[in-house]
Amino acid sequence: MSKEIIQPRTRGFISLSSHPDGLKFLVKKQIDKVNKTEITNIKNVLVVGSSMGYGLASTIYSLYGLGANTLGVCYERPPLKAKTGSAGWYNSGELIKYAESAGLNLNVVNGDAFNDNTKKSVIELLENTYGQIDLLIYSLASPRRIDSNGITWNSTLKPIGSDVSLKNINLQSNTFETSSISKATEEEINATTKVMGGEDWDDWVTELSAHNLISENFKTVAFSYVGPKVTEQIYRTGTIGIAKKHLESTVKLINNKLNNSSTNSRALISVNKAIVTQASSAIPGVPLYMSMLFKLMKQNNTNELAIDQIIRLFENKLLDTNAPIVDNNGFIRLDDYELENTLQDTILKQWDIMSADNFLDLIDFDQYKIDFHQIFGFNVNEIDYKQLVETDPEYSINTL
Ligand code: NAD
Repeated sequence: MSKEIIQPRTRGFISLSSHPDGLKFLVKKQIDKVNKTEITNIKNVLVVGSSMGYGLASTIYSLYGLGANTLGVCYERPPLKAKTGSAGWYNSGELIKYAESAGLNLNVVNGDAFNDNTKKSVIELLENTYGQIDLLIYSLASPRRIDSNGITWNSTLKPIGSDVSLKNINLQSNTFETSSISKATEEEINATTKVMGGEDWDDWVTELSAHNLISENFKTVAFSYVGPKVTEQIYRTGTIGIAKKHLESTVKLINNKLNNSSTNSRALISVNKAIVTQASSAIPGVPLYMSMLFKLMKQNNTNELAIDQIIRLFENKLLDTNAPIVDNNGFIRLDDYELENTLQDTILKQWDIMSADNFLDLIDFDQYKIDFHQIFGFNVNEIDYKQLVETDPEYSINTL
């Protein structure tokens, strides 16, 4: 146990510190948005990538919206002597405490989801305490994967076919720049797909199925992103886009397996909107795009945070889990407000004329910086950052 005054320490899109009290406050703020629903057929939920962003919001919804027994898997850093824990560590610990005091059931396994031993531990926990799973949310975003042969695959964010120059905001110096990014090699494309494609999602379903841990009405949802024209070269047609297409095509593979065992089971992709997270902040050009997007979406009154998107996922799209509302490709679409034509036309025009001289007039960069710092628990008005704070609270997280 140690008390400290914690200051934000960032290096570009990486934060070297996080604030337990700020994160606790923000977890509660998400909880407060959720109302218990009428959905009663989802009793047991497993969330892979449960501690941050879309996975955290899904975990909160599973508990407070569905009242489901929830098991989260994440890969977070506990506090060390001179270092705070990672933001997801505090999110998970605080959510366990909130759930406990509300009489809800949350367990969190902190370990590498790609690793066979983590899957084994989760399976054991499910067999011993939860029983069959009704819903698996796969919300993992990782820079690397060590596979079962011990090979390390690194995910890259690069264009394919040719090098690109793109408008960007330098998060270290907060300045506008044009970044040159070299095209990916075949190895980099394959490695990104190994990390962010659908292989591991399929492995999780296969493991659950092999242990008879899939209920009759089992659903599994993985998150994808399409995004706008202005980020196309770095996102949708880049290395990460290829990985996302692999994830999307894994639906068919999983569904073929599921249909052999249970007719009501189904794998689904939900295409979500851009939100400020650790993962999205790392993509060149995307923080700049989001700063413009959110400004316009706020003017339209259509901007949503992770929890709003997840509420909409469950209450508008998955309400009747046997007949989810999907597009022509079979995808749930939560990015409809983001990709709305008039809004994207405006973005294209503004993006075209944006330069170092005028970018601050076209975007809401102050809001982006607040959102970014809040990922790590900073910049919350209600928190007095001059106070000493316990950096190593007691949490019942199962660290492997
Ligand atoms: P995030 O960075 O906020 O959270 C990532 C989560 O993955 C954390 O809980 C982390 O602990 C976990 N994780 C990372 N590596 C792990 C590992 N090896 N083992 C176990 N857990 C691990 O991510 P996010 O932005 O919420 O993204 C989640 C998913 O949503 C991704 O598939 C992403 O592509 C998709 N998505 C994100 C956005 C966006 O704008 N952020 C938009 C649409 C779709």
